[in-house]
Amino acid sequence: MSAVTSVGAVDTSASAVLHRDLKQDPFRIVSSSGFYIKFDDGRKILDATGGAAVSCIGHGDQRVIDAIAAQAKTLDYCHTMFYSCPSAEQLCQQLIESTNGQMAKAFIVCSGSEAMEAAMKLCRQYFIELPVPETNRTHFIARRESYHGTTLGALSVGCHVGRRAVYEPILMQNISHVSPCNAYRNKMDSESISEYVSRLAKEVDDEFQRVGPQNVCAFIAEPVVGAALGCVPAVEGYFKAMKAVCDKYGALLVLDEVMCGMGRTGTMHAWEQEGVIPDIQTIGKGLGGGYAPIAGVLVGHRVIKTLENGSGRFSHGHTYQAHPISCAAAAEVHRIVQSEDLVQNASRMGKYLGSLLKQKLGNNRYIGDIRGRGLFWGIEFVKDKSSKAPFDRELDIAMLVHQKGMDLNDNGGILLYPGTGSVDGKFGDHILIAPPYNVTMDYIDLIVDLTSMAIEVAFEELA
Ligand code: PLP
Repeated sequence: MSAVTSVGAVDTSASAVLHRDLKQDPFRIVSSSGFYIKFDDGRKILDATGGAAVSCIGHGDQRVIDAIAAQAKTLDYCHTMFYSCPSAEQLCQQLIESTNGQMAKAFIVCSGSEAMEAAMKLCRQYFIELPVPETNRTHFIARRESYHGTTLGALSVGCHVGRRAVYEPILMQNISHVSPCNAYRNKMDSESISEYVSRLAKEVDDEFQRVGPQNVCAFIAEPVVGAALGCVPAVEGYFKAMKAVCDKYGALLVLDEVMCGMGRTGTMHAWEQEGVIPDIQTIGKGLGGGYAPIAGVLVGHRVIKTLENGSGRFSHGHTYQAHPISCAAAAEVHRIVQSEDLVQNASRMGKYLGSLLKQKLGNNRYIGDIRGRGLFWGIEFVKDKSSKAPFDRELDIAMLVHQKGMDLNDNGGILLYPGTGSVDGKFGDHILIAPPYNVTMDYIDLIVDLTSMAIEVAFEELA
């Protein structure tokens, strides 16, 4: 019904939610269960991405629902900036144990962006609280084609051209961006993997020199690049080389595992496969598996010791940090992941998913690259396979594939995560596939079949 005000009739039929698209309301999702979600028009869709690689044990797990209800009945809220609570203690203990004690403490927040802000502030605090303070260290070196979140600090350190564009003039200036490790796009055919790594390490070393090593706080990167490139793991030896440059100049290594961490890539932490231990690590999506808004920062001993011996406090905090209900939900998700060996299953099923995708789609003339790790796979679309030229941006290929996936049949289709990778017209669009860790081979078969169909229908329409 329309309400009339002194300035005229107001249309209230449109959604009151401020959606990303103000011209068209998105589909409404009304329920979810297991590997499926349901739209309000009755369609049941196979959720092959768990939102943005969030749902890691599927939807509607009764054990997590019970844990949430029990926590809500016992302690719904306390101000965890000043007090502690059992569910926060338990979750942080589980997280530190999951690193084999390599990390010292966990700081729990509500989103990956907040985790990145906290990580950046910790870097700054570390250097000013050293026994001999290094107060000039205010500069961060990060990478192009990366995404670290949407708040101003996180957006500044990331380099997702599309998401930064409007806000460029108000972003932080003390950040520079070097090349990502993206072998499909950047490695020269004439180069070996170790030569490629050496070239990238030299680029970072040169950037330290340009900025002045005494001014650099940290190097920040995603071990497997998610939204900005579409599941691109680094080549072997890359992170060891980056850590060596950081060590050479005394800078911190911050790894953003918000998307690729907590089991997604087949080990609990993505850095376990890189042979490096970060000084600070951020985690998010798979931490709460979608059951509660939660993310975190795992902080290494070097940083914690410095703060303990310095001011003795972390100068940061939020009203809703370490929320008791979110912590209870995440603790239960983590318990399930551990007790059912789901990280191992992610590794096993991930290998199957990767090989099936390559087998079924590798020859498609519009697919340039299929890459990933664990249950985190990306498919990059190109207009021309030999030149790797992307499609015109206006065609919005990834979004088209995403739409065709949802519309596959009357009962429903598949949910894929589209990425507009054509940064500066250089990269192909991509889709992301990130099923829950408890996925079975049968479901992987179905995911690959439906994905192939969605791609086929999309390109038929373009022909
Ligand atoms: N870091 C990475 C690697 C991400 O993929 C994201 C979100 O997609 C973020 C940080 C920000 O997380 P959030 O959207 O929860 O703020």
